[in-house]
Amino acid sequence: MALTVVGSMAFDAIETPFGKIDKIVGGSATYIAYSAAHYIQPIHQVSIVGVDFPESELEQLKSRGVNLDGVERKMDKKSFFWSGKYHLDMNSRDTLVTELNVLEDFDPVLPEESLNASYLMLGNLHPGIQKKVISQFTKRPKLIVMDTMNFWMENALPELEETLKLVDVLMINDSEARQLSAQYSLVKAAKSIMEMGPKYLVIKKGEHGALLFHEDKVFFAPALPLEDVFDPTGAGDTFAGGFMGYMAKSDTVNFDKMKNAIIVGSALASFCVEKFGPRKLKEISKEDIQERISHFVQLVNFDIQLTN
Ligand code: AMP
Repeated sequence: MALTVVGSMAFDAIETPFGKIDKIVGGSATYIAYSAAHYIQPIHQVSIVGVDFPESELEQLKSRGVNLDGVERKMDKKSFFWSGKYHLDMNSRDTLVTELNVLEDFDPVLPEESLNASYLMLGNLHPGIQKKVISQFTKRPKLIVMDTMNFWMENALPELEETLKLVDVLMINDSEARQLSAQYSLVKAAKSIMEMGPKYLVIKKGEHGALLFHEDKVFFAPALPLEDVFDPTGAGDTFAGGFMGYMAKSDTVNFDKMKNAIIVGSALASFCVEKFGPRKLKEISKEDIQERISHFVQLVNFDIQLTN
């Protein structure tokens, strides 16, 4: 089973209460690929980079089963650059700089192989581009998952609404769910967002875990309480990568599989935040991931006897 990933590949500058880094490789598609590659190969990466993007990073992705035929390199421009600063609580951040650079010209034409994938992950990008990507598939993927953000709700709502009609799963955080639905209750928000198109909705709540909605069902996965959270950048994309990698590997699309996929996504995200950038995702083994998943099982496992 193959997975196609569309999103940004970037340089980030990050400041957290625990440290600062001026230039590290990032981007939604980069995190998604490093995360999903723990479960599935090949991954067909669709993105755009500039002349400055390190060859060594591309080689590392390739060695993990990521096919880069769909990654365009523009020799006359710089890569997308994003800079953010986290508040003390690490749950919120300010975007300091967004330099689109190559992303300004991004108009992906998907290579043939990537169009045969049964699983499609649309990382955070302009919803018009996400829609164009979907329209290139002559055979619809079994599962289309989409990430988005408040910026597009404010600046491209009509396009976002069009794209939402075409996807199976939307992944957003709690404040974005409230913004998109104009509902405070997340249950009501989920209902109204699922009426916009997606049959499943994942609402991420940072250190408070994630919720999965489908029809009248709801599932909750906690986030692992961690001693050290160093840099939350990319945690959402890493979550999406783990979710999608697991779904593609199991090759069954239903609510129960998605419950497991949310746990896998949460486990991978818990590693991501332990170091700057995608560094930790490159270091961990299958055993490390299994061990962390078993921590999740222990975290929510209890035996209760109800008495009158
Ligand atoms: P996350 O922390 O999961 O929201 O993802 C952070 C990553 O998203 C960073 O590595 C950025 O390079 C990338 N990013 C930030 N803003 C955008 C944007 N407008 N479009 C595409 N990618 C972005």
